[in-house]
This record gives sequence, C-alpha cells and structure tokens, in this order.
Amino acid sequence: MDTPEQRIQIAVQKTGRLTDHSIDLLERCGLIVTKSKNQLICYGENMPIDLLLVRDDDIPGLVSEDVCDLGIVGLNIVEEKRLGLLAEGSEALFKQIYELDFGHCRLSLAASDGVNYSGPESLQNKRIATSYVAILREYLNKHEVDAETVYFSGAVEIAPKLGRADYICDLVSTGGTLAANGLQEVDVLLDSEAVVIQTQAPLGDAKQALVDKILQRLDGVLQVRESKYIMLHAPRSALAEIRNLLPGSEAPTVMPLDGNDDKVAVHAVCRENVFWETLENLQAAGASSLLVLPVEKMLA
Ligand code: ATP
Ligand code: ZN
Repeated sequence: MDTPEQRIQIAVQKTGRLTDHSIDLLERCGLIVTKSKNQLICYGENMPIDLLLVRDDDIPGLVSEDVCDLGIVGLNIVEEKRLGLLAEGSEALFKQIYELDFGHCRLSLAASDGVNYSGPESLQNKRIATSYVAILREYLNKHEVDAETVYFSGAVEIAPKLGRADYICDLVSTGGTLAANGLQEVDVLLDSEAVVIQTQAPLGDAKQALVDKILQRLDGVLQVRESKYIMLHAPRSALAEIRNLLPGSEAPTVMPLDGNDDKVAVHAVCRENVFWETLENLQAAGASSLLVLPVEKMLA
C-alpha cells in the first residue's frame, strides 16, 4: 500500500460543466477510480492517484497550498486566483502546465442591447457587475479606466435589469444567456478553456515521474481525438499527389499489393479530421478502397 505522500492528489470539479470531461480524460489515461459514498475522494484502484472532488473555485487554492498536486480547472478561475493573490501582494504557488481543449468559453463584457460601446473608454465612471473582480480590475487598470466593480457571486446577467450595473463581465459560450437577458457582448477579456495546474512544491522523483506519465498519456488522448487512420489503394504514379492530399499526416506507410505492380497500399495517421471532401479528392486523384478508422490510443 502506498503511503499518502506517494499518492498523487488531483483536484477535479465535483459537479458542474467540467466534471464529466475531467474524469473521462483521466479514465482515458488508464486511471480506474472507485467513487466513495460521499464522493469527496475517488481512490485510484490501479494507480496511486486520487481525485478530490471540490468546487471549481477552490481548486487553484488547493493546488497553490499543496493540498493537491494537480488540478483541472478553467483558466478563468486560475487567472482570477492568480491576479487576486497578486493584488494582495502574494503569489500563486501553482504553475499552469497544460491546456485540455474542453470547457471553452470567454470572459466578456456585455451591455444592454442598444448601449453604444466604443472601447474600454466607454466604461469610464460606469458600474460593472462581475464575479471576476481581479481580472476586471486588471483590465480596467491596463486601459486606465475608472469604473466601479459590483461583486455578484452568480446570476450576474440580471444586474442591469435590477439597476445595479451598466455593464456585466461574465462567462459566455454561445451567448444564449446574454440574449435571453437582453444583453449583447461588447468585448472579450479572456479566452478560457480547462487547464491542468501543478503545485510549485517539489514532488519528489517518484511522484514527478507519475505526473509526467499522466501528462504524456493526456497528450496522447488529446491527439487521438481528431486523429484518424486512413487506408487506401493508389496507383504508384499518383503517390506524390495522394501524399499531399492526406491531411496532417507525416510519412505514410507504402506497401506493395500482391500481384499488382501498378498499385500500392497506403496507410497513414492523419492528425486532423478527415472530411468527405478529402476522400473525394483522394478518389479523384486515383485512390480506391478508401477506409477511415478511429484511433484509440497513440504514443509518440
Ligand atoms: P462550482 O459549484 O464548482 O463552483 P460553477 O457553477 O462555478 O460550479 P460551472 O458552471 O460548472 O461552475 O462552470 C465551470 C467552468 O466551466 C467555468 O469556470 C468555465 O471555465 C467553464 N465554462 C464553459 N462554458 C461556460 C459557460 N457558458 N458558462 C460558465 N462556465 C463555462
Ligand atoms: Zn464555481
């Protein structure tokens, strides 16, 4: 049995938009977890890795204070914590080490429909409702604008209707919530996605090696998402053109076909999605027997 010091603790959002993706990603990296009854901690069965299920806002703090070694959380939360600590004169003791390509959203400024926004100077002497006080303050300072920030812990989008603010600064993905509240996005402060953060405390060789292994597997998992394995037959004469048409592939494997000197089999891993148009172009270039297969795992 590993002592707790040798186990890696990863902080993950308990319930919310990031939860399923975060756990799914770790499971794809080979981790099998048992969910305990209260679900505060999921113990890894096959690796010395445990998941701490917490509110997303607590994740940067837990990692900064070295309660957890790693955390999966939105960049918006990471930046808010980092800038918040900076404003208090201290420093976040975590480093952002990996972008996970899910949980995409942006932290934006929005105003009631019809408000004439012509840049940050339009915010002068206005009231802006937000949960992201530190990021907003930095933005206002950067643009040398004086504005009042009004803290809302949630439901920021109703602030203008309540007469509490002129603008809001909140997360947007599709813009549907804004539109439903008669608001329009006028500026973007931060593009966000889920990221992995790691404590700055030294982990020791064994733990660091395991963290590196998880990150290498994460890399593989993210790469195969879009990747496809493509197989086709091609006339030798068309090989150069066909190679050029294969999207995002490195050196394809070219094999002779039994009893056919004119044609070869071409196999390639394409690191981008393969669309119908690509297949049609390949076919037009002389390719036949085209097959596109999903890639399950990849180790570069
Ligand atoms: P918690 O209870 O953990 O505090 P929460 O309500 O603060 O949960 P969620 O709404 O689950 O958080 O969002 C978690 C993260 O998902 C956000 O911090 C952000 O990084 C990301 N996200 C992606 N799209 C959106 C969106 N449209 N609105 C809000 N967050 C989004
Ligand atoms: Zn939260």
